[in-house]
Amino acid sequence: MNIIFMGPPGAGKGTQAAVIVKELGIPHISTGDAFRLAIKQETPIGVKAKEFIDQGLLVPDDVTNGIVEERLAQPDCEKGFLLDGYPRTLAQAEALDKMLAAMDRKLDHVINLKVDRDKLLVRITGRRICRTCGATYHIVFNPPKQEGVCDIDGGELYQRADDNEESVATRLDEYGNKTAPLLAYYGDRNLLRDIDGEQGIDVVSQDIVSLLRG
Ligand code: ADP
Ligand code: ADP
Repeated sequence: MNIIFMGPPGAGKGTQAAVIVKELGIPHISTGDAFRLAIKQETPIGVKAKEFIDQGLLVPDDVTNGIVEERLAQPDCEKGFLLDGYPRTLAQAEALDKMLAAMDRKLDHVINLKVDRDKLLVRITGRRICRTCGATYHIVFNPPKQEGVCDIDGGELYQRADDNEESVATRLDEYGNKTAPLLAYYGDRNLLRDIDGEQGIDVVSQDIVSLLRG
């Protein structure tokens, strides 16, 4: 199963991806997570990506495509993959088509998590992440059992530097201008599956699982 999760920042892509990859036993490929790791390790890609991420701007296509191409070549992707937050531009979608054609692979579903813009700011500013395992929480909608502590491994929860109001406004504009046009791109190819992302986390997961089970 080769799947893409699309949706604006804060739609629930990472939260749902964590559930679905467990269900399907395929790797979760998040370009956002890959960039955050590269930034933490201060690699050349991390240094370059940080300039853009800190401003809420998309990282240039050549850098992003390179990361994904390398990741898809790993043996664990042979059984399928879930791309979370990639592609986000038309040039990335075209690059992905080329990568998959070269591997003789095809996309099965592009899952579009639909959430209204006015709900996204509350989701993003309340988001907290585990410093060690990357699990995602929300201070109101999905709180940990103990404030500031990860349920899974006891790690410290932190707020992403780009999860502030100013960066969110830029990220939503980037989404509208550069990523939203991909909905038509995948719609034309009969790959787009809309999911109501405003429901509770468990209901959204159930909807995705039913869709994938067909
Ligand atoms: P994305 O990866 O699309 O940016 P996340 O999965 O990180 O989104 O979710 C953004 C925030 O919203 C997180 O704090 C998460 O806990 C919360 N969240 C995710 N799904 C839902 C939902 N269905 N209802 C309410 N809050 C949600
Ligand atoms: P969110 O879902 O909240 O936007 P992500 O963790 O997916 O957060 O992405 C964080 C940041 O990383 C983005 O704002 C962008 O700067 C960069 N990024 C992630 N994926 C891509 C991509 N496919 N193309 C360009 N930049 C990306």
